[in-house]
Amino acid sequence: MKDESQVKITLPDGSERFYPKGVTALEIALSISEGLARNVIAAKVNNEVWDPTRQITEDSLVKLLTWNDEDGKATFWHSSAHLLAEALEALYPGIKFGTGPSIEKGFYYDVDLGGQTISQEDFPKIEAKMLELARQKNEYIRKPISKAEAIDYFTKKGDEYKLELIDGLEDGSITLYEQGGFTDLCRGPHIPNTGFIKAAKLTNIAGAYWRNKQENKMLTRIYGITFPKAKELEEYITLMEEAKKRDHRRLGKELELFAFSEKVGQGLPLWLPKGAMLRERLQAFLSKAQSRAGYTPVITPHIGSKDLYVTSGHWDKYGKDSFQPIKTPNLGEEYMLKPMNCPHHCEIYKTSPRSYKDLPLRFSEFGTVYRYEQSGELHGLTRVRGFTQDDAHIFCRPDQVKEEFIRVIDLVLYVFKSLGFDDYSAQISLRDPNNKEKYIGRDEDWEKAESAIIEAAAERGLSTVTELGEAAFYGPKLDFMVRDALGRKWQLGTIQVDYQLPQRFQLEYTGSDNQKHRPVMIHRAPFGSMERFTAILIENTAGQFPLWLSPDQIAILPISEKFADYAEDVFFQLQDHDIRGFVDHRDEKIGRKIRDAEVTKVPFMLIVGEKEAAEGKLSVRRKGEGDLGSMTIEEFTAFFKKEAAIA
Ligand SMILES: [Zn+2]
Ligand SMILES: [Zn+2]
Repeated sequence: MKDESQVKITLPDGSERFYPKGVTALEIALSISEGLARNVIAAKVNNEVWDPTRQITEDSLVKLLTWNDEDGKATFWHSSAHLLAEALEALYPGIKFGTGPSIEKGFYYDVDLGGQTISQEDFPKIEAKMLELARQKNEYIRKPISKAEAIDYFTKKGDEYKLELIDGLEDGSITLYEQGGFTDLCRGPHIPNTGFIKAAKLTNIAGAYWRNKQENKMLTRIYGITFPKAKELEEYITLMEEAKKRDHRRLGKELELFAFSEKVGQGLPLWLPKGAMLRERLQAFLSKAQSRAGYTPVITPHIGSKDLYVTSGHWDKYGKDSFQPIKTPNLGEEYMLKPMNCPHHCEIYKTSPRSYKDLPLRFSEFGTVYRYEQSGELHGLTRVRGFTQDDAHIFCRPDQVKEEFIRVIDLVLYVFKSLGFDDYSAQISLRDPNNKEKYIGRDEDWEKAESAIIEAAAERGLSTVTELGEAAFYGPKLDFMVRDALGRKWQLGTIQVDYQLPQRFQLEYTGSDNQKHRPVMIHRAPFGSMERFTAILIENTAGQFPLWLSPDQIAILPISEKFADYAEDVFFQLQDHDIRGFVDHRDEKIGRKIRDAEVTKVPFMLIVGEKEAAEGKLSVRRKGEGDLGSMTIEEFTAFFKKEAAIA
């Protein structure tokens, strides 16, 4: 039994322990094991992340956090931002500080350098200072302070940014943190001391408006990352170098997949022959899967009358920031480049009266849309101004939502499996239950759709997180996240319920009760867009695509000009089997031809010389594996087909 001077601490495994009032998470760790205590950098106390050195005075649920916990990492990196600030203040006296949060990978600090300058060349010097201060093992000391005292401190220091932040804080809730010679306004939490930081690297420097507002002053944002072990920094750097090598913009050029031309216009990709081949394969793959899943393809134009988008609401919402209307010789006639396919598909729905027996209707279209992205936002194929969505809209009855979600989930998982994305999770975005009036559509429909999504995801065994308040105002949704070969996360495949467009377009069906009802609309795109998906695919595979997708699957390499005819003959025979590639007729040594084919990542090299021509055979080499021996054309075709089968 506990006495008055004790607190009851419940650990995540449900076990209960009693400690003197004022115990810290670090002391709790120490009471379990010394090794654990050495690794504890923060603690979750009743679901709030705390300093591990902060006293616990009430019965609490405590989870000890280490570098392996996301919240632990965030605390580590945020504490490192303080260390960066301390180093900067030591090296550049008089600079002023904005804010220094942790980010997904590392942290940054926004600073006002006054008249001083910092460039990438200064990074090593700053990193060295950070490590020097880290070695002092300075404790992060929490100091609750009154608002008046805080104002006094930063007025004397002359830091107007901190003063502005204090202005927005409530008296009684303000804390300072001090480590070594540096004091910062901060809510915390932090790691116990700077000694945990064993490796530091500054990664970037950029301009950033104070508090993200364009009317404010531009500050200097310095990005960095730190680790508890030097080895982890080395691994991180290797990973970054690998990411650079896999950058789809670079590989897209090397493998001649796509290009951009200033003359054509920014953000408008040109698919080169090999890229187009890849894209067509992808499209054929999904078309086939969709046809099996009951979709019917439709085709709609690249433009639509402005009226269409007034009805859909896009004009009101995005019109100002979009490509502007196209005028015609007729006065008052205006068209828009299509920003999305949904309004067109709503009009297709309306071409016939629909009965409850007609539903669901699933209209699919590889529809090209145009959106005006700021030029600074454009990035390779991932952010462009013209792109093709693998779009589809499902129109169904409210009682069919769950079944349709299950079918779309199955389709998305089939796509992931076939393309080698094995590590995925999903997020379910629901209404904010305390603000139901923010959302359009009937309450009972929302409730039905939300539980349909939850049940569908559970039935398919998806690992999900559920976020309340993250739904769009027009409907709940489910998003997939995939992790690529380098551990980076990408959002792929959104399934979105929409109560708005059916209402705006007055879509109806006749129910079994002979009354008019409104269908539910579901938007979905497993790839998202052909452009963005291709970029992710390039980075995930480093350009070594699955055989069935490879733009060139074979390279036929005649040993000399004497065997050119035989090579051509083989090429035509393989083409008949839908095996693609080319004959390398260059007057080069065979070794050189093999090397070049390897560099451009052609999966199979078929070498033909005197012996092969005489026997009607091929000498088969596989990229990265080497010689597979000689095969007849029939043998190779059969072997190839097995290898190229979609998982
Ligand atoms: Zn802090
Ligand atoms: Zn849509």
